[in-house]
Amino acid sequence: MSVRSHILVAGAGGFIGHHLVNLLKDKGHWVRGVDLHHPEFSNTKADEFEVIDLRNFDNCMAACQGIDEVYQLAADMGGIGFITAHHASVFRNNALINLQMLEAAKRARVDKYLYTSSACVYPQCLQASPEVTALKESDAYPADAEAGYGWEKLMSELASQYYREDYGLKTHIVRFHNIFGPLGTYDGGREKAPAALCRKIALLNNNDTVEIWGDGEQTRSFCYIDDCVEGLYRIMGSGYYDPINLGQDRLVTINELVDMIATVAAKKILKKHNLDAPQGVRGRNSDNGKIFQLLNWTPQISLEQGLEITYRWIKEDLAKESRQDVDHGL
Ligand code: NAD
Repeated sequence: MSVRSHILVAGAGGFIGHHLVNLLKDKGHWVRGVDLHHPEFSNTKADEFEVIDLRNFDNCMAACQGIDEVYQLAADMGGIGFITAHHASVFRNNALINLQMLEAAKRARVDKYLYTSSACVYPQCLQASPEVTALKESDAYPADAEAGYGWEKLMSELASQYYREDYGLKTHIVRFHNIFGPLGTYDGGREKAPAALCRKIALLNNNDTVEIWGDGEQTRSFCYIDDCVEGLYRIMGSGYYDPINLGQDRLVTINELVDMIATVAAKKILKKHNLDAPQGVRGRNSDNGKIFQLLNWTPQISLEQGLEITYRWIKEDLAKESRQDVDHGL
């Protein structure tokens, strides 16, 4: 690292934000973290950590004071079950956070700003088959985003672009594709598929049955957390401002994901499919041509490696807490 920056991580109590604070501290920066709560599973390394609500503009202003770079990860979000059940509150909460954080960053004369968007911005009609063609950044328009959560992400991408064009705030826009890893929520209703499946399988015995939402033939790609935060740091260091995918481009079915976790767990697991449960789009993959062209880099860590680490961590945390299984599905 050449320059020690003053960096704000908004959403530093969350999964990706917490890992990002660790990376930024390792690189020698001064970091302020803000969130509605402290990190769930381990202490923050941030130099300052404030528990504040970013739907309030005065709090956004306080958070941005004296800051060179903002990573905006704060969002009301969860897995497919959560975002399909809460369209209005997710849209409102996230729109308030994002519009006010951009304005506060502009007024506080922040130099660089990175907005974390999602693959949920891509049109539903391009994701109707499990053998989906990987989604390129330009595929987002004409728009037909995921209801609620996805449309708000698209709106805040545009707001970020307008703040750059009109006010010179250097806004980066990153579209994540299914990030997973240790220290992420794995129960309570907001967990995503890899964490939910690791939790379920950790609590099962050999030859027990796991419930899967949908027929399990829906496809996704999954990116390990260390690659995610490394990618964020590299993109913030680039001079590229159009939306860019950050994810893996290896497509697997949810049934295959279950088999991979069962292998890590060394258990024989049977599958029961709940066809009435939400399953999201039929197939989704990341086209990584743009990020490779820009950074000569793409995510490196294999799904097997990532699942091994994530499963072990969830298993150990469950044992620590002696928690009972709560079936929130995935
Ligand atoms: P997370 O839920 O673990 O972290 C988000 C954090 O934002 C939480 O700690 C939450 O408390 C905080 N937050 C919510 N409302 C707030 C408010 N009003 N004021 C202050 N803080 C508030 O989620 P994550 O997985 O770390 O995701 C980080 C970002 O990446 C989010 O913007 C999310 O939409 C985006 N994203 C994540 C994924 C993924 O696979 N994890 C995929 C696509 C996009």
